[in-house]
Amino acid sequence: MIPDTHAHLDLIDQETGKVISAAEQAGVSPIITIGINLASSTEAVWYSRSFDSVYAAVGIHPNDTGNMTAGDADRLEEIARGDDKVVAIGETGLDYYRDRSPAERQKDAFRAHIRLARRLGMALIVHDRQAHDDTLEILKEEKADETRVVMHCFSGNPDMLREVLGRGYFVSFAGPITFKKSQAARKVASLVPDDRLLAETDAPFLSPEPFRGKPNIPERVRLVANELARTRGISPEEMAGLLTANTEAAFGIGTKEKKR
Ligand SMILES: [Zn+2]
Ligand SMILES: [Zn+2]
Repeated sequence: MIPDTHAHLDLIDQETGKVISAAEQAGVSPIITIGINLASSTEAVWYSRSFDSVYAAVGIHPNDTGNMTAGDADRLEEIARGDDKVVAIGETGLDYYRDRSPAERQKDAFRAHIRLARRLGMALIVHDRQAHDDTLEILKEEKADETRVVMHCFSGNPDMLREVLGRGYFVSFAGPITFKKSQAARKVASLVPDDRLLAETDAPFLSPEPFRGKPNIPERVRLVANELARTRGISPEEMAGLLTANTEAAFGIGTKEKKR
């Protein structure tokens, strides 16, 4: 089985039950569905309750932080505490590519998410788009390394990779590493130690080749995993084992299941 550590089931324009069973048939499980605002986070929890192979992350995406209030952070905490299958806080972080929300608001929200993840001992899922320096600085200031940190859809260079690995973070790759022109990203992926590597789709976004430009679905994490296996010269089976172990380590999924 190959885990998809980052999908937005609520944004996929297909019947969710079918999307999940197609993924399971393709050998993709578990799926972590990611909240981007309060409504979407509530929906993520609903999916995780409805489907065995689905877990939830709750958070407010940097692009959605424009109208975030202090009360929203409390509400997020309630949602996160309300169900065993919530395994992470996020996605959160900074997005300077799309200026849908002022940088200061994004930073405040990012800090609030880091504090919440630390308080709950949950993984933190970080979105960093053209904001590498500020992202790293805030993660450090807020002592994010006191919990597990996942750099989702990692886009940094080898220097940045060295920094995040030094801090103990996990590094996740999505469809773009399958694109022809992504040699640099593939090189970076090949430098990630076996025990820090994760794979994701970010569905419905970032479809891997040969589906580039089409709406994405979780089963296509297999194409990402195959590319990761190729870049480090291991078999797809070995890659599946490694990604499963790392997903359990990053999100505490195995231990949570035992507790249930
Ligand atoms: Zn993201
Ligand atoms: Zn996402």
